[in-house]
Amino acid sequence: MNWSSDYSRSLGLAAPVEVSGVGLHSGATCCVQLRPSQTKGFFVGFLDEPHAPLVPLHPAQVRDTRLCTALNLNGRPLATVEHLLAALLGCGLTHVEIWLDGHEVPLLDGSALPWVEAMAATGLVDLGPRPSLQEVAAPITLQQGDSFVMACPAERPLLSAAIEFPQAAIGRQLFSLVLTPEAFVREIAPARTFGFRDQVDQLRAAGLIQGGGLDNALVCDGDQWLNPPLRFADEPVRHKLLDLIGDLALVGLPCAQVMAFRGSHSLHTQLAAALAAAPSCLTALSGGQELTNVA
Ligand SMILES: [Zn+2]
Repeated sequence: MNWSSDYSRSLGLAAPVEVSGVGLHSGATCCVQLRPSQTKGFFVGFLDEPHAPLVPLHPAQVRDTRLCTALNLNGRPLATVEHLLAALLGCGLTHVEIWLDGHEVPLLDGSALPWVEAMAATGLVDLGPRPSLQEVAAPITLQQGDSFVMACPAERPLLSAAIEFPQAAIGRQLFSLVLTPEAFVREIAPARTFGFRDQVDQLRAAGLIQGGGLDNALVCDGDQWLNPPLRFADEPVRHKLLDLIGDLALVGLPCAQVMAFRGSHSLHTQLAAALAAAPSCLTALSGGQELTNVA
């Protein structure tokens, strides 16, 4: 599969894709069907209500961001949407229906790679030129304690994440890239979610992460990992970028420099909401005013 080097084309699925797996928090099995769509955007439907109107995704649907991004879709809950949405947005998909038979998107291996591989196996179709990405007219900054996210005007999507953990196995990590479908698939999609050994028992006792295990999350224990090898030396920060991309999918990919320092689903989804509400000027991705001071 040759992934595109930019986001200049509208893309859909050549045929439906079906993936099943266990939800991280519920432990329940869920089937997800990705179907070609006639309409631009990401839409959700539930297989037990096949005739109900499809719900277009929007940041206003976020209901919980403590351990994953969970949505309320016209009264129906849907948890852990971020890795699937990262795969759709990162790979450049623009027209997709997401159909589910449960309340939580399967975690699979904890990364976006199984979604990417399933779509690659089915193939994509070119639906013509893509409208320009949303430009950011003025910087947006959101802060929570010593964490922040910001989005600044830029000529192309340039994403950065930084994390800082006292555990020596993670420490300080920074990762930046110009986002393209091929860069997403190569650099971001394989990065798995991560957690901490001392939190696992607490979360299980609280009825959460019932579907979590050493095969779908990296587990950090101080200065070592319980389940090496890592796919990248800096896999945790790459996964933070994966989560950021998935949360931005609620509004769409902005043509902006986006930085998340110690980011979280809460901050990411607030940024998506701010972008949805922001005044923007749409110009061609490759044209318009030249910007300076873009690193
Ligand atoms: Zn994640």
